[in-house]
Amino acid sequence: MHRIGEEATLAGAVLTVDLSAIAANYRFLAARAGTAACAAVVKADAYGLGADRVAPALRAAGCRQFFVAQVNEGVALRAILGPGPGIAVLNGATPGSEAACHAHGLVPVLNDRGQAEAWRALARRLGEALPGILQADTGMARFGFAPTDLTALLDDPGGLAGIAPALLMSHLACADEPENPANARQRAVFDGLRARLPGVRASLSASSGIFLGPEFQADLVRPGAALYGIAPQAGRTNPMRPAVRLQARVMQVRTVPAGTPVGYGHTELTTRDSRLATVAIGYADGFPRSTAGGEAWLGESRMPMVGRVSMDSIVLDATDLPPDALRPGTPVDLIGPNRSVDAVAAAAGTIGYEVLTGLGHRFHRIYSGV
Ligand SMILES: *Cc1c(COP(=O)(O)O)cnc(C)c1O
Repeated sequence: MHRIGEEATLAGAVLTVDLSAIAANYRFLAARAGTAACAAVVKADAYGLGADRVAPALRAAGCRQFFVAQVNEGVALRAILGPGPGIAVLNGATPGSEAACHAHGLVPVLNDRGQAEAWRALARRLGEALPGILQADTGMARFGFAPTDLTALLDDPGGLAGIAPALLMSHLACADEPENPANARQRAVFDGLRARLPGVRASLSASSGIFLGPEFQADLVRPGAALYGIAPQAGRTNPMRPAVRLQARVMQVRTVPAGTPVGYGHTELTTRDSRLATVAIGYADGFPRSTAGGEAWLGESRMPMVGRVSMDSIVLDATDLPPDALRPGTPVDLIGPNRSVDAVAAAAGTIGYEVLTGLGHRFHRIYSGV
């Protein structure tokens, strides 16, 4: 079992991020992507895991192109990575941030005429062509040019004046469902647009799309979640290595008779004489309060959660463990070898993405495998 170091004894819970697992996941996805290049999406502070440690590890694994969602994330990432790696901003530049975007060497995704016009205006002021990524909305109605609007832009002789198209991209709405016909429909629209931009690299797939086959991989893939161990395809064996472990300390152990109500709202009663362990993690740490039927592990021993998740604590049923297995300070796994991020998410009615990005900043953090 992983031992928590001395420096962590002040914290109720410890989050361990395995950088070598993230690097291995990057290499696995890059190999899966065949001839397509493999970027890394490190938005939202690398899905909550710490872009300052994760991005350099990805660069060391061979990654040369990074994506963030917002300009401020790109500015922070540029300071971490220095000049060299490409950094693209998925949401595009917020109005007024174009000059800062350019000054930090960030390439915005251009999602509509307005974003393209603003980028062209900066190019005119600077007297140079600026790289920009053209995003088409091929069937998600979230970000990007409607295909007809993009075609109109390309038909307009001056439409791209001042913009050097660095990439044509789009995003799949249902890529985690391989059988969903929306995938092929989006790809057909995308391929039609690709034909209009010969010589410009193209990118369609995030984590899940990589597993839809070579025809979805285009020239560049953009995984995020799978790098961090989240299963790219629901209901299939997860080929990724887990990258996080979340351990909380036992704070109190007590025995109670059968029929004892536990926690806020008395939503559960003990069904037998029970030994209960209260551990120091709660929804203020980002552990979902909506969890139903949750569990924690001590090595190979399972402990079901009892009652509601509180702000700072969770109660576990440790009756089936040897009486002296738990004592105050013992770390138990909320996420670990026997409990994946995806399983934690499923018990809370959400997805691994939301659990990872929600894990708060109260934990002591350890980076392993550096
Ligand atoms: C977040 C995001 C990604 C990465 O998606 P994952 O499912 O985490 O791999 C790629 N492209 C776009 C446009 C995104 O918004």
